[in-house]
Amino acid sequence: MANEEWRSATSDMAVQQFDIAAEKLAIDPNLAGRLRRPDRALIVSVPTRMDDGRVHVFTGYRVQHNDVLGPFKGGIRYHPAVNLGEVSALAMWMTWKCSLVGLPLGGAKGGISCDPAELSRNELQSMTRRFTAEILNVIGPEVDVPAPDMGTNEQVMAWIMDTYSQHKGHAVPEIVTGKPVAIGGTLGRRDATGRGVVYVVVEAAKHLGIELNGATAVVQGFGNVGSVAARELTEIGVKLIGVSDRTGGFVDVNGLPVAKLLEVANKNHSLAGCPYGDRITNEELLELQCDILVPAAMEMQITEFNAARIACRILAEGANGPTTPEADAILRERGIFIIPDILANAGGVIVSYFEWVQDLQNFFWSEDEVNKKLREILVKAFNEVLNTSRKHDVDMRLAALMIGIERVAKAMLWRGLYA
Ligand code: NAD
Repeated sequence: MANEEWRSATSDMAVQQFDIAAEKLAIDPNLAGRLRRPDRALIVSVPTRMDDGRVHVFTGYRVQHNDVLGPFKGGIRYHPAVNLGEVSALAMWMTWKCSLVGLPLGGAKGGISCDPAELSRNELQSMTRRFTAEILNVIGPEVDVPAPDMGTNEQVMAWIMDTYSQHKGHAVPEIVTGKPVAIGGTLGRRDATGRGVVYVVVEAAKHLGIELNGATAVVQGFGNVGSVAARELTEIGVKLIGVSDRTGGFVDVNGLPVAKLLEVANKNHSLAGCPYGDRITNEELLELQCDILVPAAMEMQITEFNAARIACRILAEGANGPTTPEADAILRERGIFIIPDILANAGGVIVSYFEWVQDLQNFFWSEDEVNKKLREILVKAFNEVLNTSRKHDVDMRLAALMIGIERVAKAMLWRGLYA
């Protein structure tokens, strides 16, 4: 993403991570130059009729980073901070993530710059359908398959699936993953990312000799990823002592009641007004002393400015890109064990892949089967990353990136340059 159009703080960070791994792998500069930037980026205007009769024009994006391993795959984000640079970085991370966990998929990402909390259901539906129509020519079951990300959910995926299907004249469930089970979704997709975070935390704890029963956890972000990770952690005996969302955080060293927090979040669409624990800011939350810290909200939450005060033993990155390269160096020095995003949150895309495969075969699996296969893939990937980190004496992030990037680079070399 050397070109100015693709640049933002997040894309600079993704490229910086790539450059470190590419140098360690001694990747040919000609090839590195291709992988540093996306294959294709589409910016669309999304005119939407608002409830008051006005037409508001939102800006939407779909960035396809690399599809050498298979069709592009990646979520759709609805958030005010969405821009071309952020989406490009997220698309690049998807490429390395799919490759790392051995999926025959490439990396993409999309999004609309908007605040979904401010939109009515009608506005959200109109915007989603128009966005789908605008990107229709670059997506497809064998081309590019979207999924949920921040600010989107199974309802949004259902509207995308319906709009695409209406254009094709027949139902095309395999155009999108993370959709409701009633229209071809898979069992286990909603919980997959948060559950996957916990599967790899269990592996990390084994490796570090940490007893999880009675250990403490802090989770930033209480959406799809954070709330499920919090719930699953408490199910294996971990005490949740801190949690937050965009409205702020709550702390109770004696443990917060996850089931009750979920009730509040489901009812109010946020934790605001939650009567449990004491209030703290998101900044304070990240610095709480705990065994496991799960950032599950936004990028760039742990930076050179707070890394020295992060007080966990395991940092399990539920979010994409929560830690900057400068912070990485500080955390490494301080001996904090990082389970990097492309490994920790890969559960989402793994089960999305299962959903796509089931749709293509018209043959559906039990939830136990989904979870069992998910765990197998993540445990294998965790051990591969750990072994690579030992072999090359590098941290877990660099090891994960090296595995992901190397597989893509090898495939690119086989295919060559079409000129
Ligand atoms: P979501 O919209 O369901 O939830 C996001 C949560 O973060 C909400 O509780 C929101 O209030 C909170 N939040 C937003 N800004 C915040 C801030 N500045 N400080 C603290 N909390 C804040 O989103 P999600 O799907 O759970 O995604 C969260 C992260 O996980 C994103 O980085 C996303 O890219 C990543 N991720 C999601 C999936 C998935 O399957 N949904 C898969 C892999 C990675």
